[in-house]
Amino acid sequence: MKNRFLPSATPPPQPAAAPLYFPFRDGKLLAPATIGKQLLSTTTFQFNPGDYPQQYLGMLDNHPCFSVQLSTSYLIPEGYAFSHLRKLFFAMPELLAIIAGRAKQIADWDETHRFCGRCATPTVQLPNNHTKECPNCGLTSFPRLAPAIIVLVNDGEKLLLARSPRFPEGMYSTLAGFVEPGETLEEAVAREIKEESGISVKNISYFGSQPWPFPHSLMIGFFAEYAGGEIILEDDEIEDARWFRKDALPAIPPKFSIARRLIDTFLSR
Ligand SMILES: [Zn+2]
Repeated sequence: MKNRFLPSATPPPQPAAAPLYFPFRDGKLLAPATIGKQLLSTTTFQFNPGDYPQQYLGMLDNHPCFSVQLSTSYLIPEGYAFSHLRKLFFAMPELLAIIAGRAKQIADWDETHRFCGRCATPTVQLPNNHTKECPNCGLTSFPRLAPAIIVLVNDGEKLLLARSPRFPEGMYSTLAGFVEPGETLEEAVAREIKEESGISVKNISYFGSQPWPFPHSLMIGFFAEYAGGEIILEDDEIEDARWFRKDALPAIPPKFSIARRLIDTFLSR
């Protein structure tokens, strides 16, 4: 598939097509009931973008894309509502969901790095750059990105799936966790699986990755094989973990999530 979205911090001097805006307030995206590219175009929104902080995100085909932070004084157009991106994420076309996730992360960074974290001086954003600099002490900040591993563990034909208390009822997924400072991805895989399930793994292999803007992760997917141990649940984040046979799976995450892609790839082997 042709890469239709090109992330950038430098807006084109003369955009060929109308801008697309991703408007947020309190971390929620302003969106219509039916989400489509045309409904996020500039003609739909009755606002002067110059009235609100915005950040350039990159080009979707010929459309320059921007995040916008609306204030409480903004009047919501009819048929629109502010919704948590997490709720909309799997309902949106995949490409728009990815850009909306980028928009949210960059808008969050813009809003939460207005002052230097070291000396509290107001920061200045460098031109055409997602970098803020403190004019007093020189400290720089960038949009945050937290790498997290997500792993499908198998024992022959069986796969290890677990559920968090936050999941919809009955749904199980692959295990996941954040990478610690100083740790390799492979070490994070082995540690997280051990911590969350008590299982040891071997033959860890890379699968693929997915941006996950809740709040600012990059999910890095792996396969791993069972190497020993019994399932022991000690982590509060996991309420159940089990081995499932390929032909007796529980409810699993929706298409386009990396968890689902890991599971579908394993099932197709
Ligand atoms: Zn400073």
